Amino acid sequence: MPIFHSEAIVLRSFNLSEADKLITLMTNRYGKIKCVAKAARKIKNRFGASIEPMSHIRLIYFGKENQTLYRLNHSDIIHSFQEIRGDLQKIYTGVYFIELIDTLTPEMHPDLNVFQLLQNGLKALETIGSIDTLTRIFEMRLMCLAGYAPQLNHCTTCKKVDYTTKIGFSFERRGIICELCSLQVNPEIYFQIGILKYLKKLKTIDIKHANRLKFPKGTELDIERLIHRYILSHTGRELKSYPFIRDMKKTFENTL
Ligand SMILES: [Zn+2]
Repeated sequence: MPIFHSEAIVLRSFNLSEADKLITLMTNRYGKIKCVAKAARKIKNRFGASIEPMSHIRLIYFGKENQTLYRLNHSDIIHSFQEIRGDLQKIYTGVYFIELIDTLTPEMHPDLNVFQLLQNGLKALETIGSIDTLTRIFEMRLMCLAGYAPQLNHCTTCKKVDYTTKIGFSFERRGIICELCSLQVNPEIYFQIGILKYLKKLKTIDIKHANRLKFPKGTELDIERLIHRYILSHTGRELKSYPFIRDMKKTFENTL
């Protein structure tokens, strides 16, 4: 039976039976996979904290090629992201990153860029203070890697670059709509022209440099709503972790 070696970040850990756990992992070599960790619920088990969600690990697993469920044989922690685990707002944000990855990526579809986005996103979350900007970059970069990059360079209908003060955005057409075409297309949302530049930056900026990007005051909520609705238009449902980061943000804002 083939044995696989890889690095991975743990996405989910789920109790499968009284003794075993089912682990979902984003590996750097084989994409998203699922493994059964035998006896992982026993107090003295060989996996320990390495199968906690968010852990960056080195693992060995085996199973038939192209099957959907493997057996975890060995796992070592490379990095546990302890800085995230000590801060409630960062924990919720990290859990949101993981849920987004789990929702938007198919199993057994290797993509090193997705793995690196998750790894670098969690690393940045440990050290960078601007969690909102970091989250917007993560969302936009992941949407682009998952094949849902929004069209922001020209009107999706007439292909012209002709805007006044407000631009329409159509979730169905996955991009911006000019004023003239808006009369026929009826975009679901409009935003100020100044925001367009920042949306374009989100598509290309390296997540490691999240602290270099600052949204103009008063635009943060518009950018957040636009990207959130864009994600919803693809997932078709609210992610479980999203209300938590919204509530956390409100709590922090009210205590300042
Ligand atoms: Zn147009």
